[in-house]
Amino acid sequence: MNNEMNNMMSEEEKERIARNFIRQIIIEDLKTNKWGGRVHTRFPPEPNGYLHIGHAKSICLNFGLAEEFGGLCNLRFDDTNPTKEDEEYVNAIIEDVRWLGFDWGDRMYFASDYFDQLYEYAVRLIKMGKAYVCDLSQEEIRQTRGTLTEPGIESPYRNRSVEENLELFERMRKGEFPDFAKTLRAKIDMASPNLNMRDPVIYRIKHATHHRTGDKWCIYPMYDFTHCLSDSIERITHSICTLEFEDHRPLYDWFLDQLGVYHPQQIEFARLNLSYTVLSKRKLLELVQRGIVDGWDDPRMPTIRGLRRRGYTPESIRNFAEIIGVSKKESIVDIAVLEHCIRDDLNKRAQRAFVVLNPLKVIIDNYPDDLVEEMDAINNPEDLSMGTRKVPFSKELYIERDDFMENPPKKYYRLAPGREVRLRYAYYITCTDVVKDPQTGEIVEVHCTYDPATRGGSSPDGRKVLGTIHWVSARHCFPVEVRLYDRLFIKENPNDVEEGKTFLDYINPNSLEIKTGYAEPFLKDAKPEERFQFERIGYFCVDSKYSKPGKPVFNRTVTLKDTWSKILKSLQESNE
Ligand code: ATP
Ligand code: MG
Repeated sequence: MNNEMNNMMSEEEKERIARNFIRQIIIEDLKTNKWGGRVHTRFPPEPNGYLHIGHAKSICLNFGLAEEFGGLCNLRFDDTNPTKEDEEYVNAIIEDVRWLGFDWGDRMYFASDYFDQLYEYAVRLIKMGKAYVCDLSQEEIRQTRGTLTEPGIESPYRNRSVEENLELFERMRKGEFPDFAKTLRAKIDMASPNLNMRDPVIYRIKHATHHRTGDKWCIYPMYDFTHCLSDSIERITHSICTLEFEDHRPLYDWFLDQLGVYHPQQIEFARLNLSYTVLSKRKLLELVQRGIVDGWDDPRMPTIRGLRRRGYTPESIRNFAEIIGVSKKESIVDIAVLEHCIRDDLNKRAQRAFVVLNPLKVIIDNYPDDLVEEMDAINNPEDLSMGTRKVPFSKELYIERDDFMENPPKKYYRLAPGREVRLRYAYYITCTDVVKDPQTGEIVEVHCTYDPATRGGSSPDGRKVLGTIHWVSARHCFPVEVRLYDRLFIKENPNDVEEGKTFLDYINPNSLEIKTGYAEPFLKDAKPEERFQFERIGYFCVDSKYSKPGKPVFNRTVTLKDTWSKILKSLQESNE
């Protein structure tokens, strides 16, 4: 970047570019006109499971960069394994990518659409003497592959004639051989220091029905062969993938170079790992199959559907993907960063509401028995355009049990005998008496008096109170099911297991607590996926699975306490 441009850029912009090395590569490529000014990426999921937050990082990266530079991003299903893939997953992936807010226009592709073309490419490699049909079993291929320190052993079938290879490959396609009886292998170098280059298999026999091509094929191309050629066919410019494919890049390049076709650039980045979370599809499937969670969309799952049900917004996930950045170095991102992103978003737009989770009855002795007043409450102090609402107030209320203490310690500013506090948007009240259960000694109700001059929550004489608490009117509130979630794992890195254990040994037994709360009346009409801040408690989202009209069930998205700023501060301090 030249100095002039550099000086014109804001610090923020510079930081944004620095955060993502692939963005830097694209900026450079646009400057040198490497791809004729084009940016064309793709997101290539295998439809064998639901998308998770790691995929979201890849989606935001591929679609986001295309969007940013006026390019295109394709959605391509990498469906080369007929036995593991399913239409159900295809549809779920489409829905999830859309929900995140991305659009592939008319460019939704399937690797299986290219099977004819891929077959032709394989025939071309055979004709060039660059591929051969091998009769070794899978096990024999593994055994002759060599190790990192020893070269592999050449297959006895390696030097078959082109004619014989063409004939055998054709017969493989026609279904004349059973599963895995033969493979087509690239003829590269059994002594290559890179194991991926030791005559990798490019086609295998599998008599299985494919979710799209049905029984047309009984040979299926392998990932490495399919992927680079699909990228080439779609004229992708930047083929972005995760770090474990770095060692596959020479093979990616080899196929394209041998065939002399359009050649995208593969760029690898470090995959997302999140603390207290597993992101492997196999492990997520195990959680579902063992019934540890309630399906792929359980609000504790790191799947897009789980996060959605939990109350995460697409914007918060996109923002998360942006701020964690893109690098070549593996790391574990603190889940507090993700939680910070949703808090930040919901703080700006979630409607506030009063809900009491652990009720304690308050009786205002000097308040008229039958009077009901409508108090004006601000819907969102961060966005006054969201207006106000009326909250009914009456003689008997519920407050949170921990907003009252009979013998308060220092620095406890909420309700206590003789103490005056503010009921938010209502009145100042003073505690005059406590009634206990004679048997258990438990406090069953608290008596107070109110000051009628403090309506709305402020005192005309300028008298200050230290505490402000929320409340609901006992007569008007209604019970709601509230689901409080905690992390699914108790170990920061559940993938790093001690000997003799599995990731399942680190499940948090208390990751879900179901409670009944008391909610202010308007919440009765809350619709699935609507999000609220229950004042002083947390952010909540109406569950899309268990709610019924007039009977919402609330999922806690996150608590209000943000630990990310603390983490950020300690990070900054350690960098100073
Ligand atoms: P598997 O674990 O079954 O191999 P996968 O998680 O890699 O599957 P794919 O469907 O192959 O799933 O992934 C689609 C894309 O998402 C790939 O480009 C992959 O690199 C990317 N991706 C997957 N997991 C992550 C992650 N944790 N962080 C970033 N990108 C990811
Ligand atoms: Mg994969």
